[in-house]
Amino acid sequence: SMQIRSNSTSHVRVVVRVRPFLPSELESKDKGPVPCISVLNADSDPRSGEEITVHIKDQWTSRNECYKLDSFFSQENGLDSIFHGEVSNLISGVFKGSNATVFAYGATGSGKTYTMQGTDRQPGLIPLSMSRILSSCESSGSSIEIAYYEVYLDRCYDLLEPKAKEVMVLEDKDGQVQMKGLSRVTVRSMPEFSQIFASGVQRRKIAHTGLNDVSSRSHGVLSIIVSSGGAVGKLNLIDLAGNEDNRRTGNEGIRLLESAKINQSLFALSNVIYALNNNEPRIPYRESKLTRILQDSLGGTSRALMIACLNPMSYHEAVHTVSLAARSRHI
Ligand code: ADP
Ligand code: MG
Repeated sequence: SMQIRSNSTSHVRVVVRVRPFLPSELESKDKGPVPCISVLNADSDPRSGEEITVHIKDQWTSRNECYKLDSFFSQENGLDSIFHGEVSNLISGVFKGSNATVFAYGATGSGKTYTMQGTDRQPGLIPLSMSRILSSCESSGSSIEIAYYEVYLDRCYDLLEPKAKEVMVLEDKDGQVQMKGLSRVTVRSMPEFSQIFASGVQRRKIAHTGLNDVSSRSHGVLSIIVSSGGAVGKLNLIDLAGNEDNRRTGNEGIRLLESAKINQSLFALSNVIYALNNNEPRIPYRESKLTRILQDSLGGTSRALMIACLNPMSYHEAVHTVSLAARSRHI
């Protein structure tokens, strides 16, 4: 039976994006690689609100799993189709004073950073959102500020400060969560934004001396704050840390601690999304630093989008990612 869900009832839409094969993956197989992910009701109209069924099948065994989600973006879909289908309506809400959040979620190598940042030739959701917001601001006389920070081992670091200074997360007397001293920078043009953001990305790569690139093991949060005629709305664009299945990676030491923290915070996020989508009376924001910080942007009039990013070659990763995504969805 077909289930119709209207966009207005689900606080958090959960969609899947499968990245294209990489050149190295195309070379490695003589008959060409076989993707393990497909969608069963592929011809359903995404605007109808009808849920889709993602089918994940192991190429080597007969194992397979099905999960229901809100929408599916295949290897052929460009990032502009996710932007137009799922993100641009969130931006409209931001101009009316609502908050919105987009999460890229998935294993390392599944395309999270590409989805958010893209390339010069194929801009990702961050530059697409920024240029949409800038052009809307020109016509409405609104102003834009950005903040950019990362959450690593449950601590927050300001990526707009020279040394990625740590920022304390505090609660004020009304119970509102504040990030004390987090920088905000006014942005007036796309070149100005690109330069500020690029230096933040660079800082994220080198912030933790002694460790290799931890940028895929921290959550990177870009907040775009839009002030228009009294209304203030915020769009958070988040490149989540890679979720790993420790039973498979054999992590030890700092890597195991990192990935335990990552999995804990992703599980907490999933619990919050589940509680919101199921209209539960208590939302467990306090379970992690990330969900505490995002408390003002999840729930209430806020809207969010979780993009489960998948490597088309990896059955186990896909099952691990999509099962948690589907679990947070509902009902
Ligand atoms: P993650 O951030 O999840 O670790 P990345 O975004 O770094 O993953 O993507 C992994 C690899 O896949 C990178 O080499 C990236 O360039 C490539 N990739 C991801 N999505 C696409 C896409 N849509 N088109 C081309 N290459 C992609
Ligand atoms: Mg990445």
